[in-house]
Order: sequence, then structure tokens, then C-alpha cells
Amino acid sequence: MRTTLKQYTVREICEGFVYNEYECKGLFGLSGKLTIQPEYQRNYIYADGKRDVAVIYSMLKGYPLGLIYFNKVSEGKLEVLDGQQRITSFGRFVTGKFAIKDANGMEQYFSGLAKDLQDMIMNTQLLIYECEGEESEIKEWFKTINIAGIPLNEQELLNAVYSGPFVTKAKEQFSNSQNANVQKWSAYISGSVNRQDFLHTALHWVSKGNIGNYMSMHRNDDSIQELETYFTTVIEWISCVFLDVESEMRGLEWGRLYEIYHKHSYNPQEVSSLVHELYADPYVKSRKGIFEYILGGCTDKKMLEIRVFDEATKKRVYEQQTLEAKKEQKSNCPLCALSDTNNKTKIWGIKDMDADHVTAWSKGGATDISNCQVLCKTHNRAKGNK
Ligand SMILES: [Zn+2]
Repeated sequence: MRTTLKQYTVREICEGFVYNEYECKGLFGLSGKLTIQPEYQRNYIYADGKRDVAVIYSMLKGYPLGLIYFNKVSEGKLEVLDGQQRITSFGRFVTGKFAIKDANGMEQYFSGLAKDLQDMIMNTQLLIYECEGEESEIKEWFKTINIAGIPLNEQELLNAVYSGPFVTKAKEQFSNSQNANVQKWSAYISGSVNRQDFLHTALHWVSKGNIGNYMSMHRNDDSIQELETYFTTVIEWISCVFLDVESEMRGLEWGRLYEIYHKHSYNPQEVSSLVHELYADPYVKSRKGIFEYILGGCTDKKMLEIRVFDEATKKRVYEQQTLEAKKEQKSNCPLCALSDTNNKTKIWGIKDMDADHVTAWSKGGATDISNCQVLCKTHNRAKGNK
């Protein structure tokens, strides 16, 4: 890979600057010679009134904006390899897309700035490395730079590495904040469309976690049919089984749950009342676990993280039980006391005993002292497995 160090002014870069509001992309600059957001670049994420504004303040203070890298595609054709967030920020500013606060706290668009400040921005010199090399070479390098600002996340890197028709199509569907389905999807998927979290989830589901392999295999596909169908199927399945949308559903491993449980049948009305019951149960600590607990037939209580007895309660019950056991010369574990083993009269230390619900939580037993007993660890474990 060959690199040449060049200097451009902001004025030159902004010549013919086009920003696409719809796709949140800075498109072109340098009088059309420069493609600001090639396919493998992530979306513009600085439009938050902070990072974009910070770029402008840096220029007004004369701070350097850092190195920028262009890829020389052919004679007279350049693409931004690194620096598109910064370029799009000042491009949007000088074309009046956002305002900054001046020294008096007043909002100012570029056109409202004093002439000397406008010139200061336009004449800012940018240091730019123009790189020339094989596509694979440049992408490999791009994968490793991660300089300036927010590092690329895993999916953004994968999009860069496996760029091609498949990624382009997939991004149109899953990385497009204008897609009307996003609202519905975000009930079950956490993260942001712009940072590729929805695309990441969709790929994770269809590939059963082997995203890189999947993207590599489908890289040159013109169709994303399988990805779309699988994703839609999982989403439909969730919304058929669970009539209610609860905030704890967001970000669960729905792809895995679908694979395990989609062949079981559920009565959505019953499921719904179970969900409500468990949400109202003060002993259920993990609401996120409710959904898999129900899908699995309400057997694995561990998923709910039922509240346990606190140490003070355990200690009081232990002392009470041990005192009585000593009086009657039997074990302080009531189950050992009933047994015919050497442990029949054994007095266990508190560390060797666990607090246990006399009436199980699943049968309505409360987590308070009246429903607490201590058992030796062996008996407690045996009881818990029933
Ligand atoms: Zn015991």
C-alpha cells in the first residue's frame, strides 16, 4: 500500500458537499471527486448536537482535527477511509444543517457567523493521507485502524470486511431508521439501528451465532431472502406467543429461544395471565427470566431467581432450631433427624446448612421467617431438585 501525505482546506473538501438526510450519510465532496461514505463505512453518528458541535469548536480554536485517510480508487476518484464523521460534521455545518452556540450563548448557523470566523473554518488545513493499494489490503488495514473518536463495533467491522451486495441490501432493511418496522422490532431487540445492532441481531439469529461465516458465504448474494424470512419468523413467533410487550423482553436471546421452543404449542391467553402473575410476584427477582421459564413449561425456577432468605433470618432460624435439637438430642437438620444414619444426632454448623422454604415458593410459600427452616446442604440440595 502506498501513501501520500496531502493537505486540503475545509473549503476544498466542502466544494459540492452533499448530505443525505434520509440515509444519514455524507455523500460527496471535493467537487464530486470524493465519496464520503463508501459502502463499507458506518452511518454518520455524530449528529447528536455534541460530537458534531465539538468538531466545529475545535476548528474555531485552531485545534488540529487529526489525520484523515483517503483511499485513491482511481485517477481523480477518492473515498474516505477514516474521517467521515469529522468531514460530514463540518460539511453539514457549512451547509446550514445545524447551529453552534456563540460566546454569548446564542445559536449561530454558519451563515450567521462573523466573516473572520467563517474564513477560519473554511481555511482550516486538513492533513490527509491518500492510500493506494489492493482492495483486500486496504480493508484489512481499515479493520485495524479504529482511530479518532468512537471505535467501530463488531458489526461495523464485519460490514467493512464483508462489504458487497449482501451487506448493502441487508443494511437497507436492518440499518435504516426510516424502516417502519423498527418500532415493532425494538420491543424485542435492544440497541440502535445506526450502530448496526438490529442487523447484528438478525444475522446472529439466522447464523446461530456464526455471523462472520454467514456474511462471508453470502457476501456476493443479491438477495437477503433467508435473513429476512428467518428474522420475520422469529419476530412473529414472539408476538404470537406473548400477547403483551414488556420492557424486559428487549434484548433476550430470542433466536435461541425460537430454536428450542418454536415446536411447542402455547395458549397465548394462559401465557399472558402467567406473565402477569409472575410480574406481580414480589419473590421473582429476574423478570427477564420469566419468558424462558414459561416457554420451558414453568419448571426451571432458577431462571426467576426467587428471592432467598437473608442472612439474619437464616441465623435466627438456625439458632432456634439448634437449641431445640440439642434439647431433644437429635440433629438440627430436621431431615437428618428423621433418618437412620449417623447424622441422626449430628449438630451441623451454620456454614453447613442452607435456608429453605418450608412451603415451596411455587406452591405459594412466602420468603419470610414463618416459612423458613434450615437444612443440611445435602438435604437442601435434594429437596431443591424435586
Ligand atoms: Zn440433613
